[in-house]
Parts: sequence; C-alpha cells; structure tokens
Amino acid sequence: MKWSFQIARIFGIPIRIHATFFLLLLFVAIVHANEGGPGIARGLVFILAIFFCVLLHEMSHSLVARRYGIKVRDITLLPIGGVASMERMPEEPRQEFLVSIVGIVVNLVIAGAIYLWLQWTGTVEPVRQLSVTQGSLLERIMVVNVFLAAFNLLPAFPMDGGRVLRSLLAQRMDYVRATQIAARIGQGMALLFGLVGLLGNPFLIFIALFVYIGAEQEAAMATMRSAFHHVTVREVMITSFRTLDVHDPVSRALEHLLEGYQQDFPVMDREELIGVLTRAELLEAISRGNERAPVGPIVRRDIGVLSPDDQVDAALERLRNENRTAMPVVQEGRLIGLITLENVGEMLMVYNARMRGKTH
Ligand SMILES: [Zn+2]
Repeated sequence: MKWSFQIARIFGIPIRIHATFFLLLLFVAIVHANEGGPGIARGLVFILAIFFCVLLHEMSHSLVARRYGIKVRDITLLPIGGVASMERMPEEPRQEFLVSIVGIVVNLVIAGAIYLWLQWTGTVEPVRQLSVTQGSLLERIMVVNVFLAAFNLLPAFPMDGGRVLRSLLAQRMDYVRATQIAARIGQGMALLFGLVGLLGNPFLIFIALFVYIGAEQEAAMATMRSAFHHVTVREVMITSFRTLDVHDPVSRALEHLLEGYQQDFPVMDREELIGVLTRAELLEAISRGNERAPVGPIVRRDIGVLSPDDQVDAALERLRNENRTAMPVVQEGRLIGLITLENVGEMLMVYNARMRGKTH
C-alpha cells in the first residue's frame, strides 16, 4: 500500500502504518487540546490501545492463514482499521471460516478479559456514562472491542462476517455461487444501511458505500479466480497452430506471423520439440539481419513446458515467472498444444461475458 511504512516485524510479518494514521493522532490531540497535556496523553493512549487491538485482530487472521500455507505479505494499519494482505484466501471453506472468524473472537476475548477485570476490581461504570472521549479508559476499550466484533460480524464483504457467510454457503454450493449470494446479501444490507443513514446518520451512509463497493469487488475477484483456478490447460490451449522445423529459415516464421493468427511458434526437430520462437525473438533476429538463417540456433531451448492437466492459474504464474508470452503443452513427450497470454486473456473475457449472462 502506498504512503505507508514499516514500523515493526512480528512473527516475520512486516507491520506497516499508513501516513494518514498520523493525521488521526493529530486530530485526537486537537480534540483533547483544551484539556491540556494529560488530556491529550489520555486521548492518544486510547487511540494507540485501539490500534493495538486492531493489530491483534489482523495478526490473528494472518497467523491462522499462515498455518494453512498462505503467505501474508504485510499488515497495514489505517485510520479506519487494519488490512492483512494475504496472497489469497483459503479455498477450503472450513479454513476460510477459521481464518475469518478468529479476528472476531480476538475482539470478544479482549472485551471479555477487560470485563472480568473490571468486575473483579469493582470498577464497572454504567455504559451510558461513557463516550469516545469520557469515562474509564479500560471500559471504553472494552466497548470499542465489542463494537469491532459486531461490525466485523456483519455478513457483508469486506467484513469478516461476509467471508464467514461465504464459507458457510460454500460448504453447500460452489465457491463462485456462494460468493455471489454472500455479495448480494451484503449489498442488500448496504442499501438498508443507506436508507437508515438517510434518516439522519451520515456515518451509516459512509459504511453503506464502503460495504456496497467491497461486495462488488469481492464478487468480481472470486469470479476471476475461479475462471483461472478450476480450468485445466487442456481446456483452453490452442490445438491448431503452425510449427517450424529446426532448419526453417527465420523468414518462414515471419510469413506465418504476417498471416496473422499466431505469434509464437514451437520449433521441432522431426517429432521432438526443442523450443518456442516468440515474436520478440523473431523480430530481434530480423533486426540483426538474420532473415535467412535457420531458426534452430536462434530459438531458446531452456524453456518450461506445461502438462495438459495443469491448472490455468498455475500456468499463468509460470509464464509470468519465466517471462514468456507462450508455453508449449506436452503430453508423453509429444507436443499437443500451446498456451499464450493472448488466448488466456480471451478466455477470461469469454468467461466474464458468460457469468454476466448468468447473473442478470
Ligand atoms: Zn478481520
């Protein structure tokens, strides 16, 4: 996240703070300014304590996710709360449920512990006497934690409750459908918030917008992930394509390229695949005046190959890692297809068009 910098590293996870967080601290200091030094200090301690709770909340998500082998890039603390950026959410519904619910549990445990302490020390104040700036510090922290737990339990993305709901639905139906239903419930709730907000609570309108957009994004992301995830290379690979012989001149590849429907050419030595000549390599050879030279010495041979049973998202990952635009698909040593960035992109467009057809 831009405008944020690292302040610590806990269990190997970088903890970052967004620059606007300091605006919040400044704001709190100004609000308490008329109370003098001790008042300002109390206000700041309160905010820092809340952020510590938010950090524990995000930390709990991260540590449970990591148990399931998911990488956590970092945790960023923003004035509106925290974000743990994970490389992905678990696909297994039970795991997603645990990763999501643990944050809420953390807030409830904190609130419960404070409540027991207050009871034990006999210092409970009536909640009505509390406000954001007034009342016992511990008790205010307790109330905020209850509020955080309740807020996150709302069954709407991007709150934890939205994921909890999806994971429960996903145990009975497929992931994309579960996401869409969860997103629609979330959006319905956002509309309700918005309506209530119109009756005089602008803060609710803000939350409504936040929830509505979050739900939309989550649904789109799930669609995309599933478009890539549950499809094998066999289903999207190009099966009709030209190949070059290792002795063919570069000009031959150029002819095929100009014919228009192919940019990357597998190069064969009789029945054996020895590499893929990409458009970039082809153009480079031409620029060096090698048009008549055979493609054999030009083509890169140390390339990866895909299996038809590989998943498309993994295939894309490898294309990206090896910085290729195309990769051959090989089965039992025989070339049977070709995956290119272009045809994967087209597949995604088709998939999206189909999903749009289904949802409206
Ligand atoms: Zn959470």
